[in-house]
Amino acid sequence: AVSVFWFRRDLRLEDNIGLYQALQSEFPVIPLFIFDEAILDSLPKDDARVAFIHESLSKINSQLNEIGSSLLIKKGKTLGVWQELITEFDIKEVFFNKDYEPFAINRDEAICQLLETNKSIIYSFKDQVIFEEKEITKADGLPYTVYTPYKNKWLEKFNQLKPVWEYETSELFSNFYKSDFAFPSLEQIGFVKSSIKVKPFTLNNLENYQETRDFPAVDSTSYLSPHLRFGTVSIRKMVNFAAKTNDTFLSELIWREFFMQILFHFPKVVTQNFKSDYDGIQWRNNEEDFKRWCSGNTGYPMVDAGMRQLNETGYMHNRVRMVVASFLCKHLLIQWQWGEAYFAEKLLDYDLSANVGNWQWAAGTGCDAAPYFRVFNPDIQLKKFDEKGIYIRKWIPEFDLGYGQPVVDHAMARDRAVATYKAGILK
Ligand code: FAD
Repeated sequence: AVSVFWFRRDLRLEDNIGLYQALQSEFPVIPLFIFDEAILDSLPKDDARVAFIHESLSKINSQLNEIGSSLLIKKGKTLGVWQELITEFDIKEVFFNKDYEPFAINRDEAICQLLETNKSIIYSFKDQVIFEEKEITKADGLPYTVYTPYKNKWLEKFNQLKPVWEYETSELFSNFYKSDFAFPSLEQIGFVKSSIKVKPFTLNNLENYQETRDFPAVDSTSYLSPHLRFGTVSIRKMVNFAAKTNDTFLSELIWREFFMQILFHFPKVVTQNFKSDYDGIQWRNNEEDFKRWCSGNTGYPMVDAGMRQLNETGYMHNRVRMVVASFLCKHLLIQWQWGEAYFAEKLLDYDLSANVGNWQWAAGTGCDAAPYFRVFNPDIQLKKFDEKGIYIRKWIPEFDLGYGQPVVDHAMARDRAVATYKAGILK
């Protein structure tokens, strides 16, 4: 008889709640990861995120090998894999950390049904966030849709716990199932290495974070996003660190949870406007303009530099993400869903809740969003945040004063955006 711990968005052994609980099971614990074909089949073979997952699993596997255990890696449709697993092993208990995305919730429901028929006991845990969807609500129990009161409530609750407990798993490692499962290569999973790589995160350059985080040429953010996405670092450790060192940085981590609870309570935001009175906007959705935006050829240096950074590295600085997103929706009048999908394909840190939340913020269609009449001027943004053009030159080597022919004139595009939104917003 065995227990299983199922790794998903929590690719680490350290400070992992579900794993900590699993290792206290009375049965030896098989650590499992499933490469889900339902997700993988739609990705290009050199997808950098799959390579990152594989690399992170390989690290875990090496740690396990040192104590005579190993990861069980499976590939297939998740339900089918579990059907096989319950015939292969006598699985008494299954442990995993919760995932709040609509796709994951449905998948987990199906797996739980199967496991229940097998009489396996299921335990699931909150690990991905400090506070999950129903823990931070208004007095009437309804979810917050505005960030500042959400944050205040979050902080109030957090200050009662601070620091949050971290889970020391290493003392329990002797309860891993002794095994020597084969660890598949990336190629055996059907993928190849990518030229793009996730870089390690850092907490060493956050001293002046509140002043420098908006300047894309300054290396002053943490690069935590892909690590939080795949759980190669624990949110509890990061939040405890932020609470001790930098309130602005802590606020950004709270934005992450804000958008996660929005997605949970309003799953329609994946495809539809949060504000349905914006449904009447007549988007231009011009394919040629979209192509120029994607490839970084709009003639606006800040927009083009950002898109080229994204295309070449899988990352874009937050300030520049805001500028390119606003430009797509307002200057080009292309609906946010197109931009969201392009980011989803390219971003190493792609996270459904943050991506949809921020895109809808930029488009003005989201909760607590930028007002529709606020249209960023990409050239003023450039002057404010990259005055010396250091960021621009890094991504556009050919940049000079006469750079590019703008795809649209700013003043015309601003007036057109305001008029189009105004006409489209249902009263
Ligand atoms: P830091 O400044 O060091 O911030 C620390 C952490 O706080 C981030 O890693 C992230 O987890 C969280 N965070 C910071 N800003 C935000 C925010 N606005 N919303 C939610 N969480 C935040 N972030 C993603 O993780 N995945 C996405 O798919 C994503 N899409 C975005 C799309 C648009 C149009 C915009 C404007 C922003 C998007 N962001 C997304 C938010 C933000 O740009 C990135 O989290 C940040 O740039 C990552 O770099 P960092 O880790 O160095 O950030």
